[in-house]
Amino acid sequence: MPSPTESPFTWSVAPTLKVLALRTPTLPPATATNAVLAGHAPWVVDPATPHAAERDRLVDALEALRDSGEGPRGIVLTHHHADHIGAAAYLSERLGLEIWAHARTAELIADTLTVSHTLADGDDLDGWRVLHTPGHASGHIVLFDEVRGFMVGGDMLASVGTIVVDPPDGHMATYLASLARLRELGPKVIVPAHGAPIDRPVALIDHYVAHRLQREARVASALGPEPRPLDLITRAAYPELAPVLLPLAARSALAHLEKLWEEGRAAPHEAPVDTQGRRPTVSPQLLWRAA
Ligand SMILES: [Zn+2]
Repeated sequence: MPSPTESPFTWSVAPTLKVLALRTPTLPPATATNAVLAGHAPWVVDPATPHAAERDRLVDALEALRDSGEGPRGIVLTHHHADHIGAAAYLSERLGLEIWAHARTAELIADTLTVSHTLADGDDLDGWRVLHTPGHASGHIVLFDEVRGFMVGGDMLASVGTIVVDPPDGHMATYLASLARLRELGPKVIVPAHGAPIDRPVALIDHYVAHRLQREARVASALGPEPRPLDLITRAAYPELAPVLLPLAARSALAHLEKLWEEGRAAPHEAPVDTQGRRPTVSPQLLWRAA
């Protein structure tokens, strides 16, 4: 929806949901990560840009809010990926804001960032419900305003580019279950980390799930009785992709193979099992066959 020309925001969904799309190195075709301002005295979700001019845009917007008596409450990280956290330390220092994230995210970024407050599923941040939605990242959270139906969605969906599910931290069955949970809540608007606010999120979730299952069917049909390597399976399942994109597609194909294995529909050749008898992490080196 259009913003007044004097607004510093890229999108203003509502007074409690504003977005600054800030240029950030991320996965093409996306070129920006949204810094989302959630709430009147807002939580700043996913400040990520490493660029000084872009950081200034965010700081200016937040200082203007502070001047009007609605200064930011803190920084919330949806997950640990580099294109979501790159300005958190800077912003924390510059504006004296503390960083909040899921405990798993805190653990994954402990070497580079100090998370002051860990968040868990069900926590309430001034009316924003915290939902733990693993699958794309094990510590992924979204924020949900149950009254207005607004959701800050991180990398659960995108309106530019695709969501990569990259094992072992990414897990396809878990990602699909998290999407199903979001769908059940019937959000009216989801602001993703990349691209414009999504105003028909349930339809987009359905599209995502259908697309994933279609891809999974292609991965399954690329399997035969003979063990096959991941790159062959990937090329069969993603025939339309330019060769340069195949390594990324291979990560998703591996995530689908892991799910098919869990469902008894695929089997790795010579699957290694650890001493506790638990299933090991899937590896790109494994050969796969139909089960
Ligand atoms: Zn991500």
